[in-house]
Amino acid sequence: MRRLLVAFTATVLALAGTAAPAAAAPAPGGAGLGDEYFPDYGNSGYDVSHYDIRLRYYPEQDRLTGTTTILATAEQDLSSFNLDFVLDVASVQVNNRPATFTRQGDHELVVKPARAIADGQALTVVVTYSGVPSNKVAAGFTAWIRTPDGALAVGEPEEAWWWFPSNDHPSDKATFDVSVAVPDGVEVISNGVQPRANTPELLGWTRWYWRSAKPQATYLAFITIGQYDITRDVTADGTPVINAYSQLLPEDFDAAARSSVERTAEITDWESSIFGPWPFTARGGVVAPPGTLTFALENQTRPNYSANFFRGGSNPYVVVHENAHQFFGDAVSVAQWKEIWLNEGFASYAEWLWSEKQGEGTADELFDFLYATEPADFWTVKPGDPGPANVFDNAVYDRGAMTLHQLRRTVGDNDFFEILRTWVAEHRYGNGTTAEFIALSEKISGQQLDELFQTWLYTPAKPAAPAALAARKSVTQPTSLDKIRQVHAAH
Ligand SMILES: [Zn+2]
Repeated sequence: MRRLLVAFTATVLALAGTAAPAAAAPAPGGAGLGDEYFPDYGNSGYDVSHYDIRLRYYPEQDRLTGTTTILATAEQDLSSFNLDFVLDVASVQVNNRPATFTRQGDHELVVKPARAIADGQALTVVVTYSGVPSNKVAAGFTAWIRTPDGALAVGEPEEAWWWFPSNDHPSDKATFDVSVAVPDGVEVISNGVQPRANTPELLGWTRWYWRSAKPQATYLAFITIGQYDITRDVTADGTPVINAYSQLLPEDFDAAARSSVERTAEITDWESSIFGPWPFTARGGVVAPPGTLTFALENQTRPNYSANFFRGGSNPYVVVHENAHQFFGDAVSVAQWKEIWLNEGFASYAEWLWSEKQGEGTADELFDFLYATEPADFWTVKPGDPGPANVFDNAVYDRGAMTLHQLRRTVGDNDFFEILRTWVAEHRYGNGTTAEFIALSEKISGQQLDELFQTWLYTPAKPAAPAALAARKSVTQPTSLDKIRQVHAAH
């Protein structure tokens, strides 16, 4: 009886020209992706596969204009959906029809398509916009950095909002084409390879083209615009290496910067020998003008470095750290920002391995010295759940690395390095969680490791001294520690 009634109702409604009642009404997508620390970062209801970002930048006015085309797939019936973006939007097209749009909060753009979108349907979203990014404040600050001769879009976790509309969370990765027109003689550097030569545009402008062919988190996309010297090489396995150095680097430490970053191919070859095949189609690095960028960031295929790292001489440790992130952070990305120790603990541990290789202090010595000398408040931050204000706390880096060293001591070198390689192989181009890492470690080692991770990642207190350390009479500071500390002071 019930079935008949439903069928009858459906027929009547169909005749009336409205939607069948069996289908859920299209609903708005969410303004977040369920991130525990940053609930309104990213958006739900769709999944992006590609960004085509086509811009024009006026260095003298710090003005950006252009269009971003987003290819996505709906993950529910959508009446509207959000993008994360702060510049001034002129128009939005969804599947080739004009859409209406409104602002919500400080970085949400709510898009209402002319026609509702069905679950599973392909979406082509074209956003045309302009603005002066350095004038836009969101989350209490401006992530876009204007420099004496251009600009930098380099930051974590917030950066994309200031230059392209996106689903801004590492759990929605996509491929990228980035193209920027600038006045002749200005350089534009971004991720990946250059799929074609620069093209001249009218009235003294030149357009640059960059491509990330492997999935990339939105915060790892970057553009660096200004006066740069670009060096090009090819690795033994045929991967292009493209580095760039600000022409504003003073002569006295320009050479120190090059002595570090020009070793990128050697350092990444060494990292590949430990962590597995290089996951991307390019390598490189960019050194920013002095007094602009204050940190280094592991932008996919091509980290950006503050000039500060090289004022006191060369520092390969920062190159080791940022390129270790290509495996841990970039190829395998966090699913939740609270698990950032999966990025920083691992990249820091790569520095310990480099220190061992250089004879500048073993991982044992680094562990023991940090254990003996870290101040009391260091131990109050849980690296596995540091809190949104502490995602870049020293504990995430140093105690994260100590956690991995305890794992290595417990399971032995063979299993430890097999765990790292398998982690990358199983999760690359996607995401990984701490629970998955613990499960993998237990599977490969055949050991029960809950207590180890509970003690080192989730206990806001100093763990008991490991037996190996307790047996030692004194600890001395490893030679590498100063440079490692400098890297972590500004990730
Ligand atoms: Zn880092």
